[in-house]
Amino acid sequence: MTTGADIYRLQCLDSEGDAKQRRLAEVEAALGESEALRQARQALEHAQALIQKWMLRQRDRELEIQGLSDKISRSEQRLYGGAVKNPKELTDLQAEAAALRRRRQKLEDDLLETMIEREEAEAAHAQAQEHLDETQTHWATQQADLMAEREMLHGRLAEIEQARAELLPSIEAGDLAVYQALRRTKGGLAVVQMRDGACGGCGIVVPPSLEWQLRQEGLGYCGNCERIIVRV
Ligand SMILES: [Zn+2]
Repeated sequence: MTTGADIYRLQCLDSEGDAKQRRLAEVEAALGESEALRQARQALEHAQALIQKWMLRQRDRELEIQGLSDKISRSEQRLYGGAVKNPKELTDLQAEAAALRRRRQKLEDDLLETMIEREEAEAAHAQAQEHLDETQTHWATQQADLMAEREMLHGRLAEIEQARAELLPSIEAGDLAVYQALRRTKGGLAVVQMRDGACGGCGIVVPPSLEWQLRQEGLGYCGNCERIIVRV
């Protein structure tokens, strides 16, 4: 005959197994790259791309300024070299040199702005790197904890499986079938204890006849929720 203690123990093992399985699913889902880590890595890549952009622009401006400086030197050489004597030509050369200098000044202003932008991008990059490092450290610790927990859960689930296998022969086939059917229809909770004279599942007061039965046989059925009630 199935005892109340045995079927209650089966329920405890299965309830614990259910909870451990749920937690295992959560742990499995949390393993792997996190959203925070993905975002931190993206932010760093974005900062890197910005530095690259400003570096290229800086190099372009420097080359343009160099080219203009060469042109200015050449036109000044002609202007002051004494080879050109025609006043109209001299005036044109002066105007050209002045225009070149104005153009160079604009480029130099732009270069300065570009260098400031680059510095800011580098600062943002350093910050993004720091944030990524912190996120990664935190993530790695979390992953290690999760992996340790997963191992522990697998271990405990194996123990539960073992204990269940040892317990099953002491539960009669008919009782096991009822138990399994109740587990499916009662949210996993098929066996409850009597608590303060009431059903531990639905809370309804256990009538004297059932209480007597529980005293005699150790288990009975709740007339309300139909669960197996035990008196352990
Ligand atoms: Zn009940």
